[in-house]
Amino acid sequence: MPQIDTSKVSRFDQHGRRHVVHVLRTGVQRTIRCETCGWRRGAQFLPWLKAEEHLAEAHQATVDPTAA
Ligand SMILES: [Zn+2]
Repeated sequence: MPQIDTSKVSRFDQHGRRHVVHVLRTGVQRTIRCETCGWRRGAQFLPWLKAEEHLAEAHQATVDPTAA
């Protein structure tokens, strides 16, 4: 079983650039922060989903490097 890293979400865009959104735990709340543009927001539920949405919408980065 591959280990799933829940502390960040990374995606490649069509130019092969890697974009990373970090998932930071602050008590019960989670904060997600984009390494590329500095975007951040709180996300109590499914921060990884919100991170994926941001990567797709803001950076057109939809290629999952962990996908087979
Ligand atoms: Zn961003």
